[in-house]
Amino acid sequence: MAQQILVVGAGIAGLATAVALQRRGHRVAIVESRTDTSSGAGISIWPNALAALDDIGLGDRVRAAGGPVAAGALRWRDGRWLRHPTADRIVNALGEPLVVVQRSALMDILTDALSDGTLRRGVAAQHIVATDSGVQVTLSDSTTCSVSGVIGADGINSVVARHLNGPLNHRYAGYTAWRGVAECALDPDLAGETLGAGLEFGHVPMGPNRTYWFATERAPQGNAAPDGELAYLQTRFGAWAQPIPALLAATDPAQVLRNDLYDRDQARRWSRGPVVLVGDAAHPMRPHLGQGGCQGLEDAAILARFVDHTADVSAAFAGFEAFRRRRVRSLVRESAWIGRVVNLRPALLSALASRATVLVPEAVLTHHLASVAARSAFVAPTLSEAGQARPAG
Ligand SMILES: Cc1cc2nc3c(=O)[nH]c(=O)nc-3n(C[C@H](O)[C@H](O)[C@H](O)COP(=O)(O)OP(=O)(O)OC[C@H]3O[C@@H](n4cnc5c(N)ncnc54)[C@H](O)[C@@H]3O)c2cc1C
Repeated sequence: MAQQILVVGAGIAGLATAVALQRRGHRVAIVESRTDTSSGAGISIWPNALAALDDIGLGDRVRAAGGPVAAGALRWRDGRWLRHPTADRIVNALGEPLVVVQRSALMDILTDALSDGTLRRGVAAQHIVATDSGVQVTLSDSTTCSVSGVIGADGINSVVARHLNGPLNHRYAGYTAWRGVAECALDPDLAGETLGAGLEFGHVPMGPNRTYWFATERAPQGNAAPDGELAYLQTRFGAWAQPIPALLAATDPAQVLRNDLYDRDQARRWSRGPVVLVGDAAHPMRPHLGQGGCQGLEDAAILARFVDHTADVSAAFAGFEAFRRRRVRSLVRESAWIGRVVNLRPALLSALASRATVLVPEAVLTHHLASVAARSAFVAPTLSEAGQARPAG
């Protein structure tokens, strides 16, 4: 039965969920509190998420907009290899290369796939009340809307998650992340990460002529570099092996992003009745696996199947939560664990732990990577799994 659904938040998860539902014939509206559409550096879309995008009909558009990467190189700051798997090994394990794409290009593809008038910018969801027939949402433009279901895709500060769970605390993770795009090519063999004591620098080709990079370091919360973030990174990473100094030199300082990283209490509930969470609203995770956005894309494809195959929205939402929780929980834990290892104090400990990864056999690591990020790691519910969902008791 076609449902009328309001999606709160037009990030990756919200847009993809709306596209997936519309393609299955449901009536969807999205409200987004922000009016700006900034580009936000690059993003890695792993094959699990490409499979989810294929499921909603957009995989090839994303592949065409980005560049393929057979990542996996790991080097020490002086250029010594810690791991150097062959591209074939990575692609065989993952089912296809991952794709690195400009965030704005991904957002444009998702937005363009919506039917006209679906998305309203500059409107926030403020209050949510369950009614006998569905849900009533009060919006910041003083209107209310009545729908059969609400999907909270409103990110780590989600009001919908708080509606379901009460207060959810944030804690600073103790370190900050920078992101940028260098206007130069990267040798595909170097796609991956370079580590130092308490520091990491990731670099992947974003198409033939540009390179997406990111870096993390422990720092006091809310800090900003007095002489600019790029100048600071050049002092921290200037003596590292190439291509890192060259990448920083080829980056526009105005485009460098700096974000302190936060952990949020996990949501005990992702759904109650006709209200459900997707993406960071449900399961915020640290960025070390490059899976936050990818999991939002998996959520989108899978939630749409549950809604499609279940007459009752509440049952569909509860079925989605039960189906998704286990996979996502392990990724949240693993991302946090990697972040703790990279940022161990004293920094010497992080250096030892990072370098100890050379002791893990390549086959074990590749097998694990495949369980997280291969095409086959995206598992959609069967018709009967989706069709047998029941409302949570
Ligand atoms: C440094 C860094 C690197 C990363 N790298 C990767 C990567 O390579 N690959 C990957 O998959 N992931 C990566 N991630 C994670 C990824 O960016 C996030 O998981 C993803 O963007 C979350 O998308 P979302 O749609 O769930 O939430 P968001 O992007 O937070 O979107 C939520 C939207 O909801 C809106 N909103 C909030 N409240 C309201 C309201 N009340 N009413 C209406 N609208 C509202 C917000 O304005 C926002 O637009 C990285 C993250 C960081 C910090």
